[in-house]
Amino acid sequence: MKKLLLATIFGSMSAFAYSAECTVDLSGNDQMKYDLSEITISKSCKEFTINLKHSGALPITAMGHNVVISKATDKLGVATDGIAAKDNNYVKVDDARVLAASKVVGGGESTSVTFSTADFAVGGDYDFFCTFPGHVALMTGKVIVKD
Ligand code: ZN
Repeated sequence: MKKLLLATIFGSMSAFAYSAECTVDLSGNDQMKYDLSEITISKSCKEFTINLKHSGALPITAMGHNVVISKATDKLGVATDGIAAKDNNYVKVDDARVLAASKVVGGGESTSVTFSTADFAVGGDYDFFCTFPGHVALMTGKVIVKD
């Protein structure tokens, strides 16, 4: 009985640790800034979730934020092509360069995006960024992929 109880406790502890490292909270503000400059994705997670919160007050039409991930070399192309794709959260439909993309939110709103880690290579050069027009220069950071 005691063994079973311990197994249950350790089982739930490791489940908690697992879920904790497969999720990250990111926020964007009215100053066109994210609060993180780096996100680490572990390949031990089959799926990874980014929770995006817009901590500002400006409306989505003036200061919308999303979070998109691509290879660093694809970032500017993805953002440039996204400008014309307002109806698809500023991401070109079926853009194969996009590894993850959330919807766009305005001040006070939140969203999240869950994606497979299968397309990410350990040590690869990936960026996260906002594709709302004009934001990519300031709203960007590195995605670190580890085992
Ligand atoms: Zn933005």
